[in-house]
Amino acid sequence: MNREFQEALPVLSKLKKHGFEAYFVGGSVRDQLLGKPIKDVDIASSATPDQVQQLFQKTVDIGSEHGTVIVIENGTHYEITTFRTESAYEDNRRPSGVTFVSSLKEDLKRRDFTINAMAMDENGSIIDYFNGREDAQRKRIATVGSPAERFSEDALRMMRAVRFVSQLGFSLSESTHDAIVSHISLLQHISAERKTAEFEKTIAGCGCSEGMRLIAETGMTEYLPGLKEIKQQILQAAELPFYRLSSNEERWTAFLDVIGISGIEAFLKKWKLSNRQIGSIRQNLLFLEERRQSDWTKVNLYRAGLQCALQTEAVFCLLSGLSFSESRIREIKARYHSLPVHSKRELAVNGNDLMAFEGRNPGPWLSEYMEKIELAVVNGQVENSKEAIKEMLKSCNLN
Ligand code: ATP
Ligand code: MG
Repeated sequence: MNREFQEALPVLSKLKKHGFEAYFVGGSVRDQLLGKPIKDVDIASSATPDQVQQLFQKTVDIGSEHGTVIVIENGTHYEITTFRTESAYEDNRRPSGVTFVSSLKEDLKRRDFTINAMAMDENGSIIDYFNGREDAQRKRIATVGSPAERFSEDALRMMRAVRFVSQLGFSLSESTHDAIVSHISLLQHISAERKTAEFEKTIAGCGCSEGMRLIAETGMTEYLPGLKEIKQQILQAAELPFYRLSSNEERWTAFLDVIGISGIEAFLKKWKLSNRQIGSIRQNLLFLEERRQSDWTKVNLYRAGLQCALQTEAVFCLLSGLSFSESRIREIKARYHSLPVHSKRELAVNGNDLMAFEGRNPGPWLSEYMEKIELAVVNGQVENSKEAIKEMLKSCNLN
């Protein structure tokens, strides 16, 4: 049993000591079996949310009406979910209500894929009612039960299937693949936020090429924001190893560059990205164009700022088939840090100084002068000191 599970054992034991059933479930059991790093250890139990809250000192109610309570034990958060089914599905989306059930098997049956429907007890024994272990060995994504039914219940599962193909380097079982193709239009009922979360995981996975190819070939593009009728560009994007990039912003930048659509802001708004993210991605794309023209100039490094410069360089390297090496990162950082200033605030003069130097009243000339001074300082044409800037203003006629 991995360290993450060992550490969670006291939670399981406490539940059991009080007469409840309790098992590790879901992604962590799958990832241990596959020898992958374990993220969150989730627990399923016969205890109701109220009972869990009574039993543990530190809990957070994150949706007890759906059966989930977080227990904090030694600083780690564990989601404890009461055994439940999701009987009433509406509009091919997650159900609004849930029914608590008494058996682990019922709970595992409601889960999406066989590899996600295994449980592990306190002794490390795997409980596997739906052939999850075999599918894991065969590297196969297959739904628990009929894929047509399961995708009709919750259409997001089709995107989750593709996401796991990408993250795990697995393939879809034939019937799962076929049901995705025939049920793909149900994705219209799913919110953009949920689609974005799955898409971002798909493009970040080691198998992103296969994921992208599936997105194009199953017709998923028809139901993803702004991707209608650009199947060819998506297939082109499938050639790129996006997973080598280290942030969602970098991956969106590279993706947008490859698919080459116009109206970036409106496109990203449809995907519900935040204004801050949209701003960074637009900035990256702007400097990506500059970077294609030439290596980083002092002025471009200054204008981009370090984070944008590093993100843009990572994308540039990926798109040009170059490696974004540690030494390249160090070089860009060093060049950035050696700039004489990093923002207007660091300039040795301000508007008041300029008015005093020139004996003039405020006006539009001020910002014009400041910009020219900024450029000259960044480029090293003038030293960043009051005296040197004053001299520069005397010797060159900026009017
Ligand atoms: P990750 O490593 O990305 O967290 P995960 O398998 O833990 O992967 P989650 O989205 O955290 O995925 O979900 C936890 C578990 O809940 C899944 O393993 C699966 O058993 C179940 N699950 C999640 N979403 C669905 C869904 N839409 N339909 C059915 N079961 C689901
Ligand atoms: Mg998880």
